[in-house]
This record gives sequence, structure tokens and C-alpha cells, in this order.
Amino acid sequence: MKHNFGAGPGILPHEVLKQSAEAVLDLNGIGLSLLEISHRSPEFESVLNEAVSLVKELLHVPAGYSVLFLQGGASLQFSMVPYNLLPQDKTAAYLETGVWANKAIKEAKLFGTPVVVATDKENNFRTIPKKYEVPSDAVYFHITSNNTIYGTQIHEFPKSEIPLVCDMSSDIFSRDISVADFGLIYAGAQKNMGPAGTTLVIVKDDLLGKSGRAIPSMLNYQLEIDNGSMYNTPPVFAIYVSMLTLRWIKAKGGVAAIEKANEEKARILYEEIDRNPLFKGVCSAEDRSTMNVCFIMEKPELEKPFLKFAEERDIIGIKGHRSAGGFRASIYNAMPITSIHALVDVMQEFAEKNK
Ligand SMILES: *Cc1c(COP(=O)(O)O)cnc(C)c1O
Repeated sequence: MKHNFGAGPGILPHEVLKQSAEAVLDLNGIGLSLLEISHRSPEFESVLNEAVSLVKELLHVPAGYSVLFLQGGASLQFSMVPYNLLPQDKTAAYLETGVWANKAIKEAKLFGTPVVVATDKENNFRTIPKKYEVPSDAVYFHITSNNTIYGTQIHEFPKSEIPLVCDMSSDIFSRDISVADFGLIYAGAQKNMGPAGTTLVIVKDDLLGKSGRAIPSMLNYQLEIDNGSMYNTPPVFAIYVSMLTLRWIKAKGGVAAIEKANEEKARILYEEIDRNPLFKGVCSAEDRSTMNVCFIMEKPELEKPFLKFAEERDIIGIKGHRSAGGFRASIYNAMPITSIHALVDVMQEFAEKNK
């Protein structure tokens, strides 16, 4: 068995993959493939409805919010957010915590004036800045809850009068959140919710309609709300697999139970990194991510041999991102604790051989 620590697209529960494969051949015994039925058929409408209600149930989404399944990845949200929310003559605040936050800032410049309230760029984003002021005239405050590349995570969300917009691509459904504290949440599915091809958006309805500009239909949240995420043909397969993954989360006991398991998995791995004399963590301890565990070796010349050693023992996908280096073990919801133990065993075996 391979232990897949890849950062994204990430692993999915085996039973979800199996059911998805079955639905491609024959959806619920109707004699037709999921991929060849109308998206407006009752069969697919019930898939989409179930996906939306599972999101609402699992995250306790309050009234006044809409749940959308869109396309274009989290990256299109970098533009859709300011297109829909940021008037040309207004500012929005951004917390710069890495490459993804950076890309969001770049897009916002096309629509208004983003203000970077804090950054840890000089330190290659090893910490989450905590001391900053959000300008009182900002129309929203954009944060990235989990920085997939650097392995940092916001553990305490800022209390903000200004609507919080959050990119949760790599930690959505990994921990309990209070949706009411956010104006808009978005997440590309392929890290922790499903396959690539759909993007979850949860938006507070009363933020919309204030940009003062005409918005192309496919980029307009309100139009997607009015059309129930079906202004055009939705990504049926990605939504179906996401729905199955949400069912799996529910069967596991919901987000709170998943959160507990995630904390345990992360604790075991960080403990080994801190204990093993060959390895060391990269991020400041209080900002460490429970999803992407980044580490380096005390002796950089051992990194290549360790990577090979690990791959020979079926540990896959732990090479760090090109802009961070070292190693990154992504331990998303679907990662079983047995895979964490397998990685820890390999680290210990390697340390034993390299004393
Ligand atoms: C992967 C990732 C993205 C980019 O997602 P796409 O769906 O590929 O556009 C954006 N933000 C974060 C935090 C990510 O981890």
C-alpha cells in the first residue's frame, strides 16, 4: 500500500473512490452513467441538493448565507471576490501569508486598492503575523486559513468588524469553524473535499450587489445563487465525488470528530520531528498546520537520500514545494493514522542508519 502525502490533488477515502467508480458505470442502478445524464435530471439535482445540504449541516451554516459549487478553482476566487465585493474606489485589506495570498492580492489590484496589513515575507512565511491594523474603511479583510506551501495555519481567526473573506482551500472541513464570523469562504475542492474541478463558496448574501459594476454572468455570485449553481452545466463528477466525501465526513461523526483525529495525527508527526535529531520543523510552533507538515533536515545533504529511502518504503509525495524546499507531508482528512505511523517508522529507521 502506498502512503500518499501529496499536497494536492490530495487523497480521498477509498470507499469514496470506489463508489465514484461505480457511479461512472451506473448511478444508483438507473442503468446510466453519472457522466451521461442531464444535470437537470432529478438524479443529478438530488446529488447537488445533498451536497449543498451536507455543507450546511457539517459547517452549521446560518441563515443568510448561500452555498455554491463553482468552477475555476480557488484561483478564480482571487478575482471573483474583488470583482463582486470591491468597488473601484475602495480598499480591501489582505494578510500576506504566502504565495496563495500573494496571488489573491495581485488580482485584487485589477478591481480596487488592496492594502497589505502585514506580511512575513522576509522570513519566508514561517509565521502568521498577528499584530496589524485593518483600515476601518476596508470593505473586506482577506485571509488564508492554511498556507499549504509553508505549513502554517491560522489557529485563531481575527475578530473583525470588517467582513472576513477566507481562502480555506487546504483546511476546509478539517476543523470546526463559525461561519457567522465570515463574510465569504472559498475552497478549491481538491485538497480536502473532493477532486479537482469544483470550488466551494459560502457567501453572506447581504454583501452582494454593492460593487457598482457590471459583472460578467459566469463571474457573478448573485447569478449563480439565483440559478442554484446551475447557470451553466456544473462539474457533475467533481460535485458528486465531493458529495460522497461529505457523506463520509458525516459518517465519521462530523467535522468535530475529524478535527480530533487531525490533531492527533499532526501531534504524532510533529513530536517525531521535534524528537528525531535528524529532522527539524520550519514554522514557528504556534502556527504549525495540522494539514501540511513542513520539515527539513539538520544536514541538508541527507535530504535526497531520505527522500529516496522514504519512496522505497512507499512514502509518496513528501518533497517540499519548490518555493519552500525540504519536506512537506500533507495529512488531509482522508489520511489514516496508519500512514502517519508508517512515515514516523521510516524517519526512525533512517535516523538509526545515519547515526
Ligand atoms: C491549492 C490552493 C490554491 C489554488 O487552488 P486552485 O484550485 O488550483 O486554483 C489556493 N489557495 C490555497 C490555500 C491552496 O492550497
